[in-house]
Amino acid sequence: MATDKSIEIMEYRRQGLGYKRIAAITGYSLNTVKSVCRRSQTPAGKRCLQCGAAVEQPPHRKEKKFCSDKCRVAWWNSHPERVKRRAFYHMVCAHCGQPFESYGNQNRKYCSRRCYDDARRKGVE
Ligand SMILES: [Zn+2]
Ligand SMILES: [Zn+2]
Repeated sequence: MATDKSIEIMEYRRQGLGYKRIAAITGYSLNTVKSVCRRSQTPAGKRCLQCGAAVEQPPHRKEKKFCSDKCRVAWWNSHPERVKRRAFYHMVCAHCGQPFESYGNQNRKYCSRRCYDDARRKGVE
């Protein structure tokens, strides 16, 4: 099981920082940083950014950064500064529950016009 501590350390590790830098930034001891990095056998890029779980990489496809859509949405929601840069909001459709990206509009509730219409028809609101 990945802990918050190891997720934090591995996040810096993936950014290419050395053990000493990571220890200085996080306040953990150098030994802690080293042992966390050694314990994490899976290459950092193959771990879920949100929960630290190993992510299976389908061959010949774009690298997956999250183990699930749930983690992807949670991560984007906790990194609003990165979302803003791209002007993309990562949302979950209030009707079908599918994650979707909304360009520049944080108030969108549905992934598509169809979901919007369906939700209205069923009288959810
Ligand atoms: Zn995850
Ligand atoms: Zn939908």
